Amino acid sequence: MGSNIDLRKYENPDSIQDAFSRIVSGKSGYKAVIDRKKPTPKCSKCTRGGDEGQKFCPQCGGKMVLPLTNCPGCKKSIDDSEKFCTECGHDLEAARAK
Ligand SMILES: [Zn+2]
Ligand SMILES: [Zn+2]
Repeated sequence: MGSNIDLRKYENPDSIQDAFSRIVSGKSGYKAVIDRKKPTPKCSKCTRGGDEGQKFCPQCGGKMVLPLTNCPGCKKSIDDSEKFCTECGHDLEAARAK
């Protein structure tokens, strides 16, 4: 029966908290935050972030462009900081400037 006590030692609060946070992050509440975060246009001239639906910059009149979320070449989801697609090598900087 001594092994019972030993087993309890492994159930430390840290591992329980870690498991709990994983459950929480996978919940619908967390997903709703992502869903709400739609890509907002950015001014191609002054790079000022605009609001959804804006076509021209309210500050400088520059054209508002939507940030790329997928590679135009292979449709792989890309990060805003990436200059080239890691999948097909598409020039993402040039695609953003369009
Ligand atoms: Zn602007
Ligand atoms: Zn690509």
